Amino acid sequence: MIRQTDAPALPRLRNQPRGLGPGVRAARRRPGGVTAGSPDAPPFLRRGLAIGIDIGGTKVAAGVVDIRGNILAETRRDTPGRDPRHVEAVIAELVTELSSGYRIRSVGIGAAGWMDLTNGTVLFSPHLAWRNEPLRENLERILRRRVTVVNDADAAAWAEWRFGAGQGESRLVCITLGTGIGGAMIMDGVLERGRFGVAGEFGHQIMVPQGHRCECGNRGCWEQYASGNALGREARELATANSPVAQALLREVDGDPQLITGAVVTQLALEGDPACRELVDDVGQWLGLGLANLAAALDPGTFVVGGGLGAAGDLLLDPARRAFARNLTGRGFRPAARVEAAALGPFAGLVGAADLSRLSRGRARTN
Ligand SMILES: [Zn+2]
Repeated sequence: MIRQTDAPALPRLRNQPRGLGPGVRAARRRPGGVTAGSPDAPPFLRRGLAIGIDIGGTKVAAGVVDIRGNILAETRRDTPGRDPRHVEAVIAELVTELSSGYRIRSVGIGAAGWMDLTNGTVLFSPHLAWRNEPLRENLERILRRRVTVVNDADAAAWAEWRFGAGQGESRLVCITLGTGIGGAMIMDGVLERGRFGVAGEFGHQIMVPQGHRCECGNRGCWEQYASGNALGREARELATANSPVAQALLREVDGDPQLITGAVVTQLALEGDPACRELVDDVGQWLGLGLANLAAALDPGTFVVGGGLGAAGDLLLDPARRAFARNLTGRGFRPAARVEAAALGPFAGLVGAADLSRLSRGRARTN
């Protein structure tokens, strides 16, 4: 487990709110702020640069990250199918590309899968073909350098806690809504991974017995109702039924319902399309119901909700907050957790993987 006390003692920034703990900064990017890439950057910022890579079901995002969580360079690729060898080749390509302009101290990989306790082996990945895959060993052999592998949702949560919407929270639960649902917990500065390393798989709590089939092998998992994939599936159904309310959706995809994705629906909802807003609202209600279950089990002070679907903002979070309040155990007689939007957007995973790679080397220093 990684504790905040292992974290480098970063300098307090000007204008940073007090009481957030050492090394916690107020924002990922400060307008006009000095980053390691600036010519006037102090020496401590030019050291400790890390590459973070976030491997999702559809995208591989990579970046060079400094000790304050600033991204100095960023690039991305489509996930190259499910073949583990192809995924490793893309990771190697990205590390080579990003290493050319910077002095890199460590490399961190956030992978969508269940890690063993050593973070060396991906036990299982619902969306990729990893099955007991020695990912860290394979990558260290290819890259000829030390590599840290962590679960992608753990990486995103770490970044939100260190640099984003979860700063200062002693009991934080992060939910990442994308292809599925990623989950992670940081309790008293500790990334809580459970007895076997696979805690936080909240997306696979069964919400609907005999419900929609899930890639994990079960039916009715939460992520089948409250993810970007769920939003896309519901919208495709609506469009395939030739509902008159789905006209804008169908126009967006040239009349082919199979091209409708969660991202298309989210964008149209943000533009004000009533049917897409209803679909996002439905997903938000499922989200809130699951958060109420998690509050009963874990009692966090804050939920941070991010991932691609998080782009819907309050269109998603307002119905989630209402469903959360409506279903909270002991409601009216207990304090309720806050439900907040993530602050780091699609970059949380790579920023967190980079930061964790620095700390896991055991000699993270700022100067
Ligand atoms: Zn499942």
